[in-house]
Amino acid sequence: MIIKTAEYLISSPSYKDCPKPDMPEYAFIGRSNVGKSSLINSLANNEKLAKTSGTPGKTQLINHFIVNKDWYLVDLPGYGFAKVSQSQRKSWEKMIEDYLRKRENLVNVFVLIDSRLTPQKIDLEFINQLGEWEIPFTIVFTKSDKNTQLETSRNVKAFLNKMRETWQFLPQHFVTSAVKKTGRDQILALIAELNAS
Ligand code: GDP
Repeated sequence: MIIKTAEYLISSPSYKDCPKPDMPEYAFIGRSNVGKSSLINSLANNEKLAKTSGTPGKTQLINHFIVNKDWYLVDLPGYGFAKVSQSQRKSWEKMIEDYLRKRENLVNVFVLIDSRLTPQKIDLEFINQLGEWEIPFTIVFTKSDKNTQLETSRNVKAFLNKMRETWQFLPQHFVTSAVKKTGRDQILALIAELNAS
């Protein structure tokens, strides 16, 4: 897919405030600092579209972008902040659950996993929750340029093996680097394919 335009649209505190569900929508989520903003910027070919490394935990909003005037890209607030209060965590959970379960034009969720890390409980729990809610998702391993290929593939395999303990079928996964633009075309090709179906 060629990105002709990618524009910021609106930030919403609830799924109820989101734009009219008149186009297919793809959401991106992961732990704070996983490289979500960098990946979104790389997909959009715009280094400033999503803010990178701002104030973690402060932006508890559903951020809509519109790409090629044809589909919505959604930047969801990340999970796993050490410093958020119990009530902030609860409100995040409620907002995300409502959005994921009720947003009718949501086609796929891209769950970002830091490829430098061994499998993290918080990521596996989030993924299992998506499974329970029957929400289609794809796994995106980020920052693959930060490690050797061998280390990256070891972590990817370890994560997928962990998933095999509870999942009968594994979802599609991509290995990406926002710096080298690895995996960018594959993600955009999947979105194009889903948009066409
Ligand atoms: P977010 O909090 O998930 O939006 O993460 P950011 O996109 O702000 O990235 C967090 C940090 O990781 C920043 O310092 C980025 O420059 C860095 N980063 C993100 N993606 C990559 C990547 O693919 N490769 C490298 N080397 N660094 C990355």
